[in-house]
Amino acid sequence: MIYVHVPFCRSFCTYCGFYSETAPDCPASLRRFLSYAGRVRREAALRREEIVRTLDINTLYIGGGTPSVLPPSVLGSIVSALPYGPFEEFTLEVNPEDVVSGGPACLAELRALGVNRVSMGVQSLCDDILRWMNRRHDAARARKAFRMLREAGFDNVSIDLIFGLPQLSDALWEESLSEVTAWRPEHISAYQLSVEAGSALDGSDFVEASDEQCRRQYDLLCARLAAAGYRHYEISNFALPGFEARHNSAYWSRAPYVGLGPGAHSFSGAAGTSPDGVEVRSWNTEEEEYRPEKEILSEEDRRTETLMLGLRTAEGVAASALEGSPEAARLLSEGALRREKGRIRIPEDHFFVCDDIIRQVL
Ligand code: SF4
Repeated sequence: MIYVHVPFCRSFCTYCGFYSETAPDCPASLRRFLSYAGRVRREAALRREEIVRTLDINTLYIGGGTPSVLPPSVLGSIVSALPYGPFEEFTLEVNPEDVVSGGPACLAELRALGVNRVSMGVQSLCDDILRWMNRRHDAARARKAFRMLREAGFDNVSIDLIFGLPQLSDALWEESLSEVTAWRPEHISAYQLSVEAGSALDGSDFVEASDEQCRRQYDLLCARLAAAGYRHYEISNFALPGFEARHNSAYWSRAPYVGLGPGAHSFSGAAGTSPDGVEVRSWNTEEEEYRPEKEILSEEDRRTETLMLGLRTAEGVAASALEGSPEAARLLSEGALRREKGRIRIPEDHFFVCDDIIRQVL
């Protein structure tokens, strides 16, 4: 299970706090892309054994940043340096603008590389909101990009949306959900806007939407997507049957993975697949030549991670993980947790307050 981080975007979105560099469409950017790809290739070669140990889950996820700013030939040079392929699930994050400007030839090249799942950042179907977000596309481009993905033969497409903005009315949100579900993407991820450290909103006079508005829009999301046949399998993720993201689901069950590229994280796996049998989380620095930093997880860290990741999913955690917890017993009696078939989970009508529930059982 491999993650590759692409640290480039054409411009910065207002709400984004991710590590990324601006890369305008020019020859200088192409030189930076090639140098970046060279470093990822070298890292993949150095970490070959580690990568092979994670390939029981045969997935590749190229995320960012905006991976679709890289020409397919540069992406191809990275993919060919990885010690395995074709991948059962190979996800590429794209922006609508790049899909449209790249055109059918670019999409055909991506398919030829083995990309079989595309995650597209649509975020909104309201042009005013897209402008406020400083996105490069408008709603018409997002529609066109989705059509082009289908015409190119992509049959596993995920759409990202954002709700909980003060200027997003419930009516507008409902309209967007009706339209997106009519497209029938196989997967939808929807995130509540939050003010991330380092984003343009951080420290500005932006006033967040009220909790009530966010709650109403989350409830609308759950209801509309359920009615359209999507399964709510993680707090922010919905899929048509059989289209749950294998890669992301494996993160939540604490499977081992290797992250390549600046700032990318890696995990040795819950079973301790690292040679010395301990659980290690590591991350690349964001410098020119990445220096990995690492942390060995304590018993307490492992428990915290298991609960924090597992309770955000519809499957929840093994009941044994909460054995003897008086807080869990109370939450079960209050209906904020539910026990079924040896597992404990947060019922969907409590997903919105999951952070609070998880805090109580940690
Ligand atoms: S949201 Fe995505 S496209 Fe926008 S700045 Fe962040 S990483 Fe780049």
